[in-house]
Amino acid sequence: MATPPLVDSFGRVHDNLRISVTDRCNIRCFYCMPEEGVEYMDRADILSFEEIERFVRVAASLGVTKIRITGGEPLVRRDLPVLIEKLLSVPGIRDLALTTNAVLLQDQAKALYGAGLRRLNVHLDTLDRARFFEITRRDELQRVLAGIDESLRLGFDPVKINAVAVKDLTEADIVPLARFGRERGVEIRYIEFMPLDGQSLWGRSRVLTQDAMIAMLTREIGPLEAIPGRDPSAPASEYRFLDGAGTVGFIASVSKPFCMNCNRIRLTSDGKLRYCLFAIEETDVKELLRRGGSDDEIGAVIRSNLREKWAGHQIGTPQFVAPPRPMHAIGG
Ligand code: SAM
Ligand code: SF4
Repeated sequence: MATPPLVDSFGRVHDNLRISVTDRCNIRCFYCMPEEGVEYMDRADILSFEEIERFVRVAASLGVTKIRITGGEPLVRRDLPVLIEKLLSVPGIRDLALTTNAVLLQDQAKALYGAGLRRLNVHLDTLDRARFFEITRRDELQRVLAGIDESLRLGFDPVKINAVAVKDLTEADIVPLARFGRERGVEIRYIEFMPLDGQSLWGRSRVLTQDAMIAMLTREIGPLEAIPGRDPSAPASEYRFLDGAGTVGFIASVSKPFCMNCNRIRLTSDGKLRYCLFAIEETDVKELLRRGGSDDEIGAVIRSNLREKWAGHQIGTPQFVAPPRPMHAIGG
């Protein structure tokens, strides 16, 4: 008998798994991590590559086909290409992508490519050195740009850029980033600032919305049209410039939530399952993995976590409660 897919109580089928491989990071984006006093997880609590692979084998047998590796900064995890090779060999896994801040990408791109990785999302909010420093508290813009160049040279495809958009801060970056993407054939994906900073810095008034950014791009570069036929479960709405040069995407989690099309589950680096970025509750799988739990037991834990999945986050409403973990400890 075929195994039933991972369906939640709202009928959403889940085939997409985000795996955080570390909560550590080599920069300090203010909307994700405090500048000082970050307490990292104990190394003994971090899942090994073998534990991650085991989990993925079970998830794939339940219908997961797509994986994104994230963090913290995944490239600070030693030997990441070894994990990539392991995950690409799991039957049923058809799509593997990595999200990185690219500080270490120039050095590691070749090994990642050699391990079979092709899809990259590079996080870059600004091309301005001073603003890069203001956002990340590190002077690493040049290394990020070198990492992007190297990944394009090696043939990663697609390379997309994630740019977090923050009102009263990154307005001047929206258009230059789109031009940068148009020149290189790289899609820029603007992400609305979400309340995941763990320091209560977020406010609705700090969200630079999709509509505001489309207006800026249209005014300064030219008209955009929505790309028809997009995958409804994809978080970004994609647009193309009518002059034919380039596309942009918007992850408008705040102004246009897409929760009803969500197909994602998350595994944190310390082995907790989360049905939503904003989940308050999480389910431990590490203990089960470490005491030799069976595939059926692991599968049952995935299903029980998913049964709790809510209709959606309620950002901006009085009901919203920010998750206790900041973004770097969840995995974006
Ligand atoms: N370190 C990698 C990176 O920065 O791409 C991977 C982990 S990071 C948590 C994943 C993504 O989360 C980043 O690309 C960034 O765009 C996004 N992000 C982090 N904090 C955010 C926030 N408060 N609001 C919106 N997006 C955020
Ligand atoms: Fe590090 Fe990524 Fe968080 Fe920035 S968004 S602090 S790069 S984990």
